[in-house]
Order: sequence, then C-alpha cells, then structure tokens
Amino acid sequence: ERADAAAAPLTPGALADGTLIPLLANLGSADQAAEAVALGAEGVGLFRTEFLFLDATEAPSVETQVAEYERMLRAFVGKKVVVRVLDAGADKPLSFLNDEKEENPALGLRGIRALRSSERILRDQLTALAIAEARVNRYGSDSAAGGDAAAARDAKVEVWVMAPMVADLDDTEYFVSLARELGVRVAGVMAEVPSLAVLADQVFDVADFVSIGTNDLTQYTLAADRLLGSVAHLQDPWHPAVLRLVGMIGRAGRDAAKPVGVCGEAAADPLLAVVLVGLGVTTLSMTPAALADVRGELARHTLAEAQELARAAVNATSAAAARQAVTRLAAANA
Ligand code: PEP
Ligand code: MG
Repeated sequence: ERADAAAAPLTPGALADGTLIPLLANLGSADQAAEAVALGAEGVGLFRTEFLFLDATEAPSVETQVAEYERMLRAFVGKKVVVRVLDAGADKPLSFLNDEKEENPALGLRGIRALRSSERILRDQLTALAIAEARVNRYGSDSAAGGDAAAARDAKVEVWVMAPMVADLDDTEYFVSLARELGVRVAGVMAEVPSLAVLADQVFDVADFVSIGTNDLTQYTLAADRLLGSVAHLQDPWHPAVLRLVGMIGRAGRDAAKPVGVCGEAAADPLLAVVLVGLGVTTLSMTPAALADVRGELARHTLAEAQELARAAVNATSAAAARQAVTRLAAANA
C-alpha cells in the first residue's frame, strides 16, 4: 500500500468532501527539505531552529543564521514555512541560555520565557529570518516571468514565525509585537501550555495563527514528564482532556477565522489526524515519512464524519476508549 501511495500523484491534503487540509512537514535542518518536497509536503509547519544552536557556546551571529535560513527557504519557494524561534530549556537545554540549575526544568525557564530573559537572542533570530525572507523573495521576484503577478507570487516563500511555551496573552503580545517590529509579517504562538488553550479566544485577537504542540500540551495537561518512562503511559494525545483543549482552540480559531495547526506527533497518527480536523484544526504538520498515510486517511472521511469521530473521542473516558471508539466508527466511513 505504501508503494502505491508513493507512486500515485501527490494531491494536496483533503477530506472526502474536498475540504482542503494542507499537509506540512516538520524539519530540523535545511538538508531534509528535498525529501519533504518529494513526499508531498505542501510547506513546512514546524522548522525547529535548535540545530543551529546546539553545539554553540554562544548564539550564532545574524549573518550565520541568515545563510542557514536562506538555504532552507529556497527549497520552499511558492510555499509557506513556519519557523519556530529557539526552544531552549527542559528537554533541549542550551548552555548560553539555561545556566541556572532548576529543580523542574519542564516548568522552568524554557521557550519564550528563556528568550524574554535574553531578548538579544530573540531579536537577532527574528532579524535574520526577516532578512532571509527578503533575500529569497527579492531574487525570486526578479527571475519571475516579467510582470506576471501569479508567477511572482509562486516565486515567493512565505515566512511565518511562532514562539514555543507561550502561556498567555502577555507572552503573545510580547512575541507578536517584537516580530512585527523586526519585519516578520506573520506571527503566531504554539499551544503547548494548557493555559493558552483556555485563553485561546484572547490569543486570537493578537496572534495571526496558533499551532498546537501536542507533545508538550499532553505533558502539561497530564502533568507527566515526557522524558520519564515511569509516566509514559500518560503521554498519550488521544487523552480526552488533551482533545478537549484542542477543541477549545479549534472553536476560537474558527470564530476568529484564523488558522489552527497541529505540529506535534499527534498529527502523524492517521486516525487521530482526522479527529483533530474534526475538532477544528485546519493544517497538519508531521515528519515527512507520515505524509502519505495521513493523506490517505483524510481522504476517507468527510468533514461531518470527522466531526462525528471528534465527538466520540472527546466524550470517551480514557485515551484507550477514545482510540477504540474512533477506530470502530471510522471503519464505517468509505
Ligand atoms: C510539541 O511539543 O508538540 C512540539 C511540536 O515541540 P517539541 O516536540 O519540539 O517540543
Ligand atoms: Mg514542544
């Protein structure tokens, strides 16, 4: 079946009724771009930038960052690329940002919190992203067919930025205004902390989009360290508590007419991907290897059917019960 999917023409992600659900790739370096495009990625929903910083004892210069971002953005001309600013701390500690020993690093100075305490690093990163986008698009529009507006648009890459570990409106306003000040046009936040889901209506007044990081959202909703084997059974995004939070964000996004993405591992589980769409998620981003199976599963369900699966999942009493109920109902769809 996998071989068939690979040989078939790569159609855009869509439900059986034609509702488009763009399928995007999670990438950690520019080297993975070609493979993602070959597997049908319609853009990048999560570009993790930590790789640039991992071995560094201090943050890389703006110029070094521009060169790396430019290389990656060139692979996605004509598409959207969502770049996550540096997510340092907890499972991704960096010596130059996380110097204090913390008792509970997952609850400590990580993501946007660490960047707010070292604003220079965030300013440099946003500046580098704005410069890289401008460079790619300047060359792109120069070479586009003379004066053809559609060709000029197709030759451009669209950079969106998002911040990890955002807790509330204060974090959101801080990040979005800094991004705009530094020349990035589209700025959103990740929903990884349950408080953000609860406040999603307020957040959408300010953010251009929300992308749900189900790995951390699950960790924080169930209060179970994602790195700790003894509580791994709680790290399950099928948990109805996690799915209800996703539903809150989905409703707020629909009311605000703004995009809601998922870029955590949950998006790579084909049946769960359908449930997420039923909860109001409008784009899915995943490891490129999962694109074919998710594309195939989405095509088997209409939006009304996805919403029915979502209702069953949020009304289940456990992650296992949600998975079972959805599996049974889904078998009835085409
Ligand atoms: C997530 O938390 O779901 C996510 C996408 O970010 P990461 O796994 O890199 O923390
Ligand atoms: Mg995360």
